[in-house]
Amino acid sequence: MQWATARKFILASTLVITLLVSAIQMLYSRNWGVSLPVIVYPIAATDDPSIHRYIDNLSQRDFDIIDTWMSREAARYKVPNPTPTAVSLGPRLDTLPPAFPQSEHLAWLILWQLRMRVWAAFNAPGTFWSWRTVRMYLVLHRPEDKQVLPHSLGLQKGLIGLVHGFADDRQTAQNTVVVAHELLHTVGASDKYDYIGNPVFPHGYASPNRKPLHPQRSAEIMAGRIAISPFSSVMAHSLRSSRIGPTTAREINWIE
Ligand SMILES: [Zn+2]
Repeated sequence: MQWATARKFILASTLVITLLVSAIQMLYSRNWGVSLPVIVYPIAATDDPSIHRYIDNLSQRDFDIIDTWMSREAARYKVPNPTPTAVSLGPRLDTLPPAFPQSEHLAWLILWQLRMRVWAAFNAPGTFWSWRTVRMYLVLHRPEDKQVLPHSLGLQKGLIGLVHGFADDRQTAQNTVVVAHELLHTVGASDKYDYIGNPVFPHGYASPNRKPLHPQRSAEIMAGRIAISPFSSVMAHSLRSSRIGPTTAREINWIE
């Protein structure tokens, strides 16, 4: 009986602590007065030497473009802090995050999110003292496999991003687009593409007032694709051709 009471108490306290941590993280991660720390941890999807070589050759410079791009976009919205993010390349991790559930049932998704948060708590070197560091796990796959990559995602609760990309120098710029997209999810941005992946008008367009409207020249980052006609779009291959639209800027607390 006593054990049952203690177990209930432990469960309830864990839940309260988790909710409190989430609330504090949400408050501080969206307060742009201080740069938001982001650590990108590369992980090899399989034990393939070419993936390990690619990871060994990654450098901080490959990810600096995210901060430069965020600064450029923040300036357009007159965000007082000129450097909203501080992205750094973390060490390679040797364990894979929990596999995303096959079933889309809500209970499985919630369970997976909890497992992911527990896993991340033990796999985030360099973040022990920080409440507001975004942990981005970049899982790298062999480009030869030409597979459809598992879905990348960003969790606002827990400030965790999971990005799947190819271990190929020609894909590094593309990987930074996905990192930026998932990073923005962790601070409250929503997706802006439809069920077949085309940008939703107007929120998913970088320049919704452009005349003529098509083709667009850049992608809204949360749509991830450039609309070339009302029914077709192409991937944004780098952050240079990506923008943060006004709806996303509002969602991430850059503007009222
Ligand atoms: Zn998304």
